[in-house]
Amino acid sequence: MPDIIQLLPDHVANQIAAGEVVQRPASVVKELLENAIDAGATNIKLLLKDAGKTLIQVIDDGKGMSVTDARMSFERHATSKIQKAEDLFNLCTKGFRGEALASIAAIAHVELKTKQAQEELGTCLKIEGSNIISQDFISTGKGTSISVKNLFYNIPARRNFLKSDTVETRHVIDEFQRVALAHPNIAFLLHHNDNEVYHLKSCNLRKRIVSIFGIKMNEKLVPIDEQTDILNIEGFVAKPEFAKRKRGEQFFFVNNRFIKSSYLNHAVVNAFDGLLEQGAHPSYFLYLTVPANTIDINIHPTKTEIKFDNEKALYAMLRATVKHSLGQYNVAPVLDFNRDANLDTPYHFNATASAAKAPKIIVDPNFNPFKEEKNTASQSNYKPQKQTESWESLYTSLAVDTFEKQEVLFDNQQEIDTKKTFQIQRKYVLSSIKSGVVLIHQSLAHQRILYEDFLESITVKEANSQQLLFPVKISFSSKEIEMIYTIKTELENAGFYFDEFTKDSVTIKGIPVSVTESKITIILEELLSDIDLEVPDASFSHFDVMAKSFAKTLSIKTGTQLSEKEQEALVNDLFSCKEPSISPFGKATFKTLTLNEIDNLFTS
Ligand code: ADP
Ligand code: MG
Repeated sequence: MPDIIQLLPDHVANQIAAGEVVQRPASVVKELLENAIDAGATNIKLLLKDAGKTLIQVIDDGKGMSVTDARMSFERHATSKIQKAEDLFNLCTKGFRGEALASIAAIAHVELKTKQAQEELGTCLKIEGSNIISQDFISTGKGTSISVKNLFYNIPARRNFLKSDTVETRHVIDEFQRVALAHPNIAFLLHHNDNEVYHLKSCNLRKRIVSIFGIKMNEKLVPIDEQTDILNIEGFVAKPEFAKRKRGEQFFFVNNRFIKSSYLNHAVVNAFDGLLEQGAHPSYFLYLTVPANTIDINIHPTKTEIKFDNEKALYAMLRATVKHSLGQYNVAPVLDFNRDANLDTPYHFNATASAAKAPKIIVDPNFNPFKEEKNTASQSNYKPQKQTESWESLYTSLAVDTFEKQEVLFDNQQEIDTKKTFQIQRKYVLSSIKSGVVLIHQSLAHQRILYEDFLESITVKEANSQQLLFPVKISFSSKEIEMIYTIKTELENAGFYFDEFTKDSVTIKGIPVSVTESKITIILEELLSDIDLEVPDASFSHFDVMAKSFAKTLSIKTGTQLSEKEQEALVNDLFSCKEPSISPFGKATFKTLTLNEIDNLFTS
């Protein structure tokens, strides 16, 4: 038998290594930004086209490379950052594995321009799929520019595996934020398809956080600062009342490197003990500094997980420090997420309203000045969605689902007597039917009604929009603005009408008819956070998420008093739905009790 084992050619080895280092455009962004930081840059620009799928370019004013280094930098295991194995245990650079550039050059079209300060001329190198295409002297400024074009051009399977531009942009922005948060002293610029997404000047940490997450973040931050022998902890946690229902703004940096650690996260969450509602996640930006020789960064190719020598001590210290700071700042206890959204004034809405205080122009056509107002705070604004009372849908849906046996209950339209409705505990609406009673969960039922309504208007593209007399300007973080921008068309289908987009605000001229002006901020914020949770594939549209999100946010809540008219309308609208029996999130919207079942209650 002949020998069959051979060494893989370099370009194949590089492609394999790329599989580990480069999963998506965001991985390239991370590696290039880190190289710029290691090169001592004070200004870093990131330019993207099509979420990085077409172009990722990083331009820095760092120390640049000599001609030979420029060539060497694309060799595998070529690095200027460590020389011997011991160096691994005393790292102070981001990179050290010497495989990022080699991997990237194996799977994209790369152009490098670089010049050291003292040199007259710089070097320009073009590489495609590990092959050097050209090398020239060029005249260029001090520093390095690397363009990575057509990522995965030679690995169609990987390219097809990439998600939609919205999703990939989000990943890129996540990486960008992590690097920018770790280095507030460095100025960063991010352009996407020629739009400026971030323009971050060199500043202190608080300002950096605020310039990334928006001015409303400022009032939320509680400072953390603790120095001990084995650990320094600095940074901020957000006050518990601003905790999110989704993990989002949770950042740990260890020796200026973003890391993921469920163990340390647990320590922080634990420090919030008793201050958070169940299921709420605190936001935090925590910077730990430990001696470089007490951690191992080399356990993961992307270096986002690290091993600590004295994990337990760190846990205890972190927990105690956060707890102490929360106590010192006397932060307010729990707020109820589920309270009636009608009672909330979105606080930053007020802040921005000073720019253009928009008087309310929405006229309630059902307003009756003679109607007795019982409890204004919890009075609903329930607007009937549909006037039609078609009951066929009830039969079809009942026939197919678990409510099958109830089919027999409704032999004709007259069966449900909506004139006799009754609200129970401001939570349920009871309606009598000939063969018994139907008990409707008001909030879940309304979710179903709104969901179908939105879905229809979004997909049929005939949303009813109401124009605002005075456009409303709302502040968002740049990331949020970028997300809104990518779903702009879908939002327009839903009835939103946008005027001006800036880096940190959007001006809205029109809104869906079912939305009131005071809720614009809330529903957009909720929508963004819902979309953030979804990991849709490339073909995914946001329609369903959007309809669900709006329905959830706008539905009348438990605790809302409904007038008799509103109760009737709710019952009618529910049973005009295509799928009246379940909420958009899969919960039952109503239950029936037949006369037989009621009788049985009394016979046993
Ligand atoms: P690593 O960062 O692990 O050393 P890379 O493949 O990312 O490996 O880079 C290889 C080498 O190329 C680096 O060690 C560094 O010397 C050089 N290099 C890469 N990017 C830059 C840059 N932006 N400015 C200066 N030198 C760079
Ligand atoms: Mg590197």
